[in-house]
This record gives sequence, structure tokens and C-alpha cells, in this order.
Amino acid sequence: MDASSDTTPTTTTAAPAPAAPGRMAPGIWHVPFPVGHVYLVRLSDGGFAAVDTGVPGSAPAVLDALAAIGGRPDALRQIVITHFHIDHMGSAADLVAATGARVLAGAADAPYIRGTATEPTPLLTAKERALHEQALAGLAAAGTPPLRHVRVDTELHDGDTLDGWPEGTRVLHVPGHTPGSIVLHLPAAGVMFTGDTMGLGPDGRLVLGPFNVDRDEAIASFRRLAALPGVDTLCVSHGEPLRTGAARALQEAAPETDWL
Ligand SMILES: [Zn+2]
Repeated sequence: MDASSDTTPTTTTAAPAPAAPGRMAPGIWHVPFPVGHVYLVRLSDGGFAAVDTGVPGSAPAVLDALAAIGGRPDALRQIVITHFHIDHMGSAADLVAATGARVLAGAADAPYIRGTATEPTPLLTAKERALHEQALAGLAAAGTPPLRHVRVDTELHDGDTLDGWPEGTRVLHVPGHTPGSIVLHLPAAGVMFTGDTMGLGPDGRLVLGPFNVDRDEAIASFRRLAALPGVDTLCVSHGEPLRTGAARALQEAAPETDWL
């Protein structure tokens, strides 16, 4: 599972490029992936939490990143999954097996993460349709292993705070992208983990996440997040994360017109 190996003549696995964690804010690191970033957060007991897990096959790279910031595998205590999509929950089962971490996810997405309900399909705009086909082809071309579902230990609801996290990290239920999408907000640090409610385009503009089960609901959720005061750092899953200047980017966004 070493995509960087010179002895591998063709891409036969989905092992992502080796991830070098980048510091987003004190105690928060970005583990970059071609599709679906992972973030690591230091907890108050010295352990770590992961926000999302990348596509299937990403666990070794996540554990390498954890080691690079001083965490042994058993230091990973929590895995928070922002929503059920494969590039977010894809390596959760492998990471649980390797670390014993507990899994936390939005209550309305928990059945899809556990695999006890059939996933709702997104309603795509014309522009999204081409992108969606491209994304699926990319996963297939990379030889992404099949998805393994995973248990959810804690179902999260709007207004919950996360145990062990810095300064009363809040959970916001932001439906639209999926029924149970969640965002994590650290008000004192001005940091938000956005999941796919939004992403950063190549032009540096903040856009509505594509592939939503309910576009209008997704836009309403985006607007709710944009109205939060004091957000400076956006840990997005797709595109470059925004270490600073998030308030302005949120103000200037026009999710109503994205992907049309
Ligand atoms: Zn998604």
C-alpha cells in the first residue's frame, strides 16, 4: 500500500500520497489528501481526535501523520465523521481497528455510516453531474478499496459539545449535503471544521459543497454558518484550508449561484 514506491509500475491501490501534516492553529493539524482532507486535533488528555478519515486506504497515511506530531496509534481517542460520504468515512473502520478510537457522527447520518440504511442519492445540477462522474471515475482509477462500514459510538445533535475537546467545541447539525451533516465550531479559537457544507475553489473562493441531497437546505445551512461571528479559520475537506480570513470569504460567498 505504498503509492510512493518506485517499484510499483502502475497504480493498483488507492493508497494516497504520503501526508505531511500542516499546522492550522494551536493543537490542530491538516493532513492533506487529493480527495477529502483529514484533520487531527489534540485533546485535553493529551490524546488526539481525527475529523474525517479520507477514502478507503488512507489509514496508514493518517497514522503516519499522527506519528509525525507525536501520537502513537493508541493516542487516537476519537474519530468524528462529518457525514457518511466515502471520502469522509472511508478509512474509519481501519482506523478503529488500528487504534480503538470511538466514532462520533451526526445522528441522522449514523445509519448510513453503520450500513443499516440505504444511502440517499444526491440531486445533481447539470454542472455537478459531470463533476460527479469525474469523481467516481477518479476513485475507480485509483483502485480505491471497497467501503467498510463502521460502528457509531456516539450520535451527535445540534448544540452538543464534544468531551475532551478544547474550549467547548460545539456541534452544529447542518443538513442539506447529507441529512446528518455536522460542522464543528471552536468559537474561542475562531475555527470551524466544515465537512462538505463548503469548500475552497481553485480561485480561492468559498463555494457551496456539491452533490447535495437537498440543495436549498444546504444553502440555508451555509448561510447559518456564514452568520456565525468570529470565524477566522476554515478546515475544509476539499480545496486549500483557510488559515485566516474566513470571515471575509464567508461574507463574499454566493452559495445560491454555485453549481448552476
Ligand atoms: Zn460529501
